Amino acid sequence: MCSGHKSPGQSICHLCGKALEDDRSREHVPPQQFFPKDLRDGVNLLTIPTHRECNASYAKDEEYVFQSLSATAVQSPVGWALRRDRRHRVRSMGRPGLVLHEKVLAEFDQRPGGLHLPQYLVAKTFDGPRVHRVMWKIVRGLFFHHDGRFLPENTPHNWDAFGRPEDVPRGIQEMLNLDLDIHGVEKSVFAYRFVNVQGEDMKAWWWDMLLWGSVMVVVPFHDPTCDCGICVKVGRKAEEGEGG
Ligand SMILES: [Zn+2]
Ligand SMILES: [Zn+2]
Repeated sequence: MCSGHKSPGQSICHLCGKALEDDRSREHVPPQQFFPKDLRDGVNLLTIPTHRECNASYAKDEEYVFQSLSATAVQSPVGWALRRDRRHRVRSMGRPGLVLHEKVLAEFDQRPGGLHLPQYLVAKTFDGPRVHRVMWKIVRGLFFHHDGRFLPENTPHNWDAFGRPEDVPRGIQEMLNLDLDIHGVEKSVFAYRFVNVQGEDMKAWWWDMLLWGSVMVVVPFHDPTCDCGICVKVGRKAEEGEGG
C-alpha cells in the first residue's frame, strides 16, 4: 500500500478538469498497449475515468509513442513481448500501420543525436512534441490518482528522455540517485517515482518514469498551488484566454 494515497474524486475528468457525465470512459494510465499482452494477464492495470473525447484525442500519439519508444527495449523478455505486440498491432491497422512502421524504422540512425541505445550504440530519434504530449498526459493522470488534484495542462513543466545512464546530466543524476518509493503495478514494464520539492518561493514536483527498463523520462513541474512568478504569469494568461 502506498501511504499518503488519497482517493481522488471520480466526478471530474483529469484531462480537462470538467465534470464527468454519461460520456465517461475508463482510461489506462499509462496506455494499455505499453504493457505487453503476455505480461498484463491477471495484472490489475490502473484506470482513471475521463471524458471519452478527451482521451480519444491522444490515441494516435499514444500508438506512435508505443511503436517508437518501445522499440528501444531489446534483449529482454519485455522487449521480445513488445516486439510481437508491435507487429500484431501494425498488421491489424492496415495501411496506416505500415506508414507508422516505416516512420519508426527510419528513426533508427547511426548518427549522433536522439536516444542512444546501449546494445547497438545506434541512436533512435523520435518526434519530440508527440512524446512530450503523451508523457505529460501520463504524469497528469498519475498525479491525479495519487494526489487527488487536477493538474492543468498549461502547468509550467519540463521533460527529458534518456536511453542510457551516461547521457543523464549531473543535476538530473542527483535526483535519480534519491532513495524514493518506486510505484507501478508491473515495474519491469513501467515504474515511477516522485517527490515534492519545496523551494523558497516555489512549490514543485520531481517525477521520473522508467519504461520497459530502457527509457528514463523525467518530468519536473510546478504544483497547482505554486504562486511563483512563472505560475502567476501562466495563470493570468489562461484567465485572459478564457475571457475572450
Ligand atoms: Zn475531459
Ligand atoms: Zn511556480
